[in-house]
Amino acid sequence: MADFTLPDNPKDALLIPNVRVSHLEHADDSVLLCKDPVGLQKHLDSAWVWGGDVRLQFHALKSVGMVFGPIPNNLQPFTLGGASIPFKQSHCYIGVVFRSTSRNYFVDHYKKKAESARFASRQVFSIESMIGAKRLPPKIGCTFYTALVDCHLIHGCEIMPDVDNVALYKLQKVQRAFLRRLLCIGFNSVLAPLFTEIGVLPIEYRRITLCLRYLEYLLELPENRFAYMALQANIDMVYASQPCWLQDLRLALNKLSPQLQLPRNLRSMQVGEIDELRKQVSKVADEYLNSEIQKLSQTYLLCNRLEPLEDGKFTRKTRMLRHYVVLVENADYRRAITALFFGRHVFAIARLGWMKDNPIQRERRLCRFCKVVIETPEHAALQCQADLYTVNLRNNLREAVRAGNKWEIPINLTNQSSLYWFKKILFNWDLIGLCAKYMYEISVHWAKTKMFIAAEEITGNQ
Ligand SMILES: [Zn+2]
Repeated sequence: MADFTLPDNPKDALLIPNVRVSHLEHADDSVLLCKDPVGLQKHLDSAWVWGGDVRLQFHALKSVGMVFGPIPNNLQPFTLGGASIPFKQSHCYIGVVFRSTSRNYFVDHYKKKAESARFASRQVFSIESMIGAKRLPPKIGCTFYTALVDCHLIHGCEIMPDVDNVALYKLQKVQRAFLRRLLCIGFNSVLAPLFTEIGVLPIEYRRITLCLRYLEYLLELPENRFAYMALQANIDMVYASQPCWLQDLRLALNKLSPQLQLPRNLRSMQVGEIDELRKQVSKVADEYLNSEIQKLSQTYLLCNRLEPLEDGKFTRKTRMLRHYVVLVENADYRRAITALFFGRHVFAIARLGWMKDNPIQRERRLCRFCKVVIETPEHAALQCQADLYTVNLRNNLREAVRAGNKWEIPINLTNQSSLYWFKKILFNWDLIGLCAKYMYEISVHWAKTKMFIAAEEITGNQ
């Protein structure tokens, strides 16, 4: 359709200043545009004549009429070759769904892509019918996520900065549900560790990163390209405080963090500046995740975690596929460790906080065996001496740690030193397999005994 032209009409859409656009083509998908119904009908008639000349038939029933903006009074149906073209409020053009009757034209696109991503997620986890429920290794699940789910969640993000929280939430929900299911964590678990333990960016940060990449691409285009001219027009609109794509990008960046700002002088912005901004988005995402980890009571085991380097030193990494996710192959053992980091384990410190109406105060969530100390995972694992089965298992663990790492875990530990030793074993790459098995076994054992709730707590709750 390279030779397809339409007679100029003064009411043709002025998509870019001084450039009137009456038609768009992508392969054989065409759009005719006009700000005036009479003008648009003339374009349709011209297109029909041109189609007859080149033996290309336009179908009225395969075409759609849409009105963006106020609907004119007494609007008559448009016709193509004498056949009426149906009006629609929502239609998909080259993969992007537009809704003409909503303030956000892309609202249906978010909905459609969330549905597609949800369907892809279900397809990925359908593999569990063959390998067993909760048996999909997270590393493989991550590959499936990138290949099959993420592509829907980011589709079209370059042209629609996320200024609509309700629409964006549809995508966030799918991403969170996938990661929770991959890690076998409950549907209402805390959010930050979903990303820090798997190494995935929250979708709102990932989408804006790609949007900034698109801005870099636009800046590098030759000046005679329409997309470059449209960007320059957008810059003028930002300075005139008019809504446009670039204005939305500014708002979306600001919504994530006030630190994220487009260059002050948009007319002279350079690719390098946008590249820096893109890196800053990733940094802001990590800062947000870190602050959540530090703030949440459920994630206290993850605070100030360091990852080992090959040269024996340690470094802080906010997001990565963690050692236990990769190294612990037994799904039950791996889940036992994941549950600790998400505060979803069987010990009273977490469980007694879930009571809906009147959760028991933290310092009163006492150990079900010794009834003296707060029942934390580290107390159960390394400190409590009141249960013989646990003590025997712990002695086996101490032996194995002594044989493997030459570490001597003391028998009598204070609350603080038990936390120190617990984290030391948990974050050791060589001991994680042993530790995961141990935590699984004591979790199963402790869950068999009823939690201790003091009589006054029961009275107080009534
Ligand atoms: Zn105890």
